[in-house]
Amino acid sequence: MSDYILVLDEGTTSTRAMLFASDGALVASAQAELTQHYPKSGWVEHDANEIWERTMQCALEVIPKAGGAAMIAGIGIANQRETVVAWDRQTGEPLTRAIVWQDRRTAPICAELRAGGHEEELQRRTGLVLDPYFSGTKMRWMLENVPAVREATDAGRLAFGTIESWLVFKLTGGARHISDASNACRTLLMDLAGTGFDPELCELIGVPPAALGDVVDMSGELAETQADLFGRAIPITGLAGDQQAATIGQACLAPGETKATYGTGAFVLTNQGESVPVSSHRLLATVLTQLGGKRTYALEGSVFVAGSLVQWLRDTLGIVETSSQTEALARSVEDSGGVTIVPALSGLGAPHWRSDARGVITGLSFASGKAEIARAALEAMAHQTHDLALAFAADGTRWDTLRIDGGMAANDWMAQDLADMLNIAVERPDFVETTALGAAMLAASGAGLYPDLESAAQAMRGKLRRFEPAMDAAVRDERLARWRAALRAA
Ligand code: ADP
Repeated sequence: MSDYILVLDEGTTSTRAMLFASDGALVASAQAELTQHYPKSGWVEHDANEIWERTMQCALEVIPKAGGAAMIAGIGIANQRETVVAWDRQTGEPLTRAIVWQDRRTAPICAELRAGGHEEELQRRTGLVLDPYFSGTKMRWMLENVPAVREATDAGRLAFGTIESWLVFKLTGGARHISDASNACRTLLMDLAGTGFDPELCELIGVPPAALGDVVDMSGELAETQADLFGRAIPITGLAGDQQAATIGQACLAPGETKATYGTGAFVLTNQGESVPVSSHRLLATVLTQLGGKRTYALEGSVFVAGSLVQWLRDTLGIVETSSQTEALARSVEDSGGVTIVPALSGLGAPHWRSDARGVITGLSFASGKAEIARAALEAMAHQTHDLALAFAADGTRWDTLRIDGGMAANDWMAQDLADMLNIAVERPDFVETTALGAAMLAASGAGLYPDLESAAQAMRGKLRRFEPAMDAAVRDERLARWRAALRAA
């Protein structure tokens, strides 16, 4: 029986192929690094052909472990969001390097749109803030600065897409140019309440609608791979941006359910149900699912620095040799001895959005050592998450449990501190690859292995560990007061 699911997990630093059984068990995986190109300060690029080749290499490595392509019911893709590829739809070749989500080169385009008075309309219609992070201004930059992109537009051959769109185009041998709603809504070109890309928004940002694909569901018979790639055509049955995939992988399918991923940065999403959310506290509104043409939405808050602070302690300060040593160090002291760290090493994200803020360490004394600093670094995760909790609450969404994942969530001390500081239970799945699992759930229900996404999520979600809050309110208040003071300094 063909009941394996092949997930292509397209990260920023690597691409992976993962084979899941229909009960959610991971059967095999293969991984390949991606080259990061930094041509100028603030610029980050990927080679789209490299992404395609590494994806194929990993897929071809794991498919035999299922017993061949005939055993695979569907392919699910979860991808780094907002990264833009421009290609020639006749040749299938990229026209320039992909501009990665982290790239800041379009700040002047954003400033121009802001000066033109368009920020409020863009936020209301797309749910996004006017920031170089999102895809639309990256497309406009390519049109204005890359002759090959301009020539392809004139010849009617230009195709723009995010990574899932590019891979589906390649996997189908150029037959399908589509973008799933969770990726499409990150471009500034889609109205959250509309259906496809919006001609007015395209005009405003300066992107020709003809270069964009069709906006499609995230699950179902979305496309089919060219038969000769894997020896048999495999249906592509699940597509999602990585954070939406992780939210689905954590089974946050009912309004109010919330997940937080602690990787390099931290991303918190709360399911908002079927009505388009509007944030008054600088959170993003985004599509969580689109199934059978019906959408659910999420509010999203992103913190720029999470695990990267631990990396900085390790690689720059040399306080630890491995990231996980921060846990034992944090436990080795009663408290941080009054040390507080605001990890604004690359500015502050939600809910502050201050790209000019810089990190601070307050409360140092001769008694402060490595342990206090490591502890303060981990404490900063709960402090930043607490700021988000306040913004979500002010927008009308109170969390009652927080489901965590990401590399940093392996840290038990941090998980307990989150429960203590947020004063709610924190749940962590034993299987922390929730992004890939979410894509597998979408693909499994899309391939008909389950009647709907809820059933797939219920059947494929693994065991959880729960952390209950156990901190005195006075301790919490004292820490939050110190954090707020340090934040002002940042
Ligand atoms: P990404 O997907 O963004 O590349 P991961 O989810 O793989 O990131 O998480 C890696 C990050 O988590 C790194 O920044 C690392 O420093 C941090 N990390 C991993 N394990 C631990 C741990 N036990 N304690 C604290 N930080 C950790």
